[in-house]
Amino acid sequence: MTGSAPPSEAQAAPKTPVVPTPGTYIGRFAPSPSGPLHRGSLVAAMASYLDALAHDGQWLLRIEDIDTLRSRADAAAAILRDLSTLGFRFDPQRLWYQSQRLSRYQQAFDKLTAQHLLYACRCSRKEIADSLSQRGMTDARIYPGTCRPDRPALFVAPATAPLRAWRVQVPARPIRWTEGDWLSPRASPLAGRTQSENLAQSLGDFVIARPASGAGLDWTYQLSVVVDDGDAGITHVVRGLDLIDSTARQIHLQQCLGLPTPHYWHCPLVMGADGQKLSKQNGAAAIDTRHPLPLLQQALRDLGLPAVAMNGESLAEFWLKAVAQWRHLRLGREAVR
Ligand code: GLU
Repeated sequence: MTGSAPPSEAQAAPKTPVVPTPGTYIGRFAPSPSGPLHRGSLVAAMASYLDALAHDGQWLLRIEDIDTLRSRADAAAAILRDLSTLGFRFDPQRLWYQSQRLSRYQQAFDKLTAQHLLYACRCSRKEIADSLSQRGMTDARIYPGTCRPDRPALFVAPATAPLRAWRVQVPARPIRWTEGDWLSPRASPLAGRTQSENLAQSLGDFVIARPASGAGLDWTYQLSVVVDDGDAGITHVVRGLDLIDSTARQIHLQQCLGLPTPHYWHCPLVMGADGQKLSKQNGAAAIDTRHPLPLLQQALRDLGLPAVAMNGESLAEFWLKAVAQWRHLRLGREAVR
């Protein structure tokens, strides 16, 4: 079990861990080590794990630790330790650390640059807001394309302004995917439904890199996740519903980089007493792994599933039964469709 900080990129070998044979189910859980595992992240871990096992697939663990301000080596170690204590099985030799893969993100960036899909953006937040209001647009999330090279811009930031970001051009057409079919409406109200997002309308050209405080670039989550899912041959992404908003962006980047699009299923979020989703940002309590079974049974219920009937206290029994239940509900249903 890895209990210490990951090796630096220079020491890391190999940069791309052993990649499994293509053609099988390959799922993953990709926590950001900005805090401990909480009830919400446990649900995402469990859903991705059960789905992989129910398909006789592989399950990879990826530590998304490129946000140097928020990532903590002790949190990564604690997440791995907690998963292990709860009976998740994974190969410690095949852990992925994003901090070891920066050169792959640079290669993807270079590939996008060679296709003329990227441009330098020098707009400050205020300039973006001003430009939007001049166009009568109110949604501050949308980038109005001010620095996009082929567009007449209402506001043109002077070339001497500092470089603030690299943006990727988005197409003016909807990007579609179909959410995985699922177990129960409570487990996923979007199950089996086709989703569609026109990024040009909802977001505009989005940021994939920013100048780092020293030299070089900081890579965004959107770019790194697409490169990693592609390199690992991920076939199924099972993750929390809060990440559904990133899916169209990721599919767009996959298409630009010539990568296959995995199947997506976004599982329910666990809400706190205040009605907000539990997250590390709002200080969700760490799970207490001294009593694994009640935690695991609760995670099943959080997924809209019944707890499994146990004869004893063994974690192995829990996982066997949980996988059997999942297989029956998910694959049994698929098989008769
Ligand atoms: N690292 C992200 C998180 O902890 C998850 C990324 C993903 O599953 O695509 O929320």
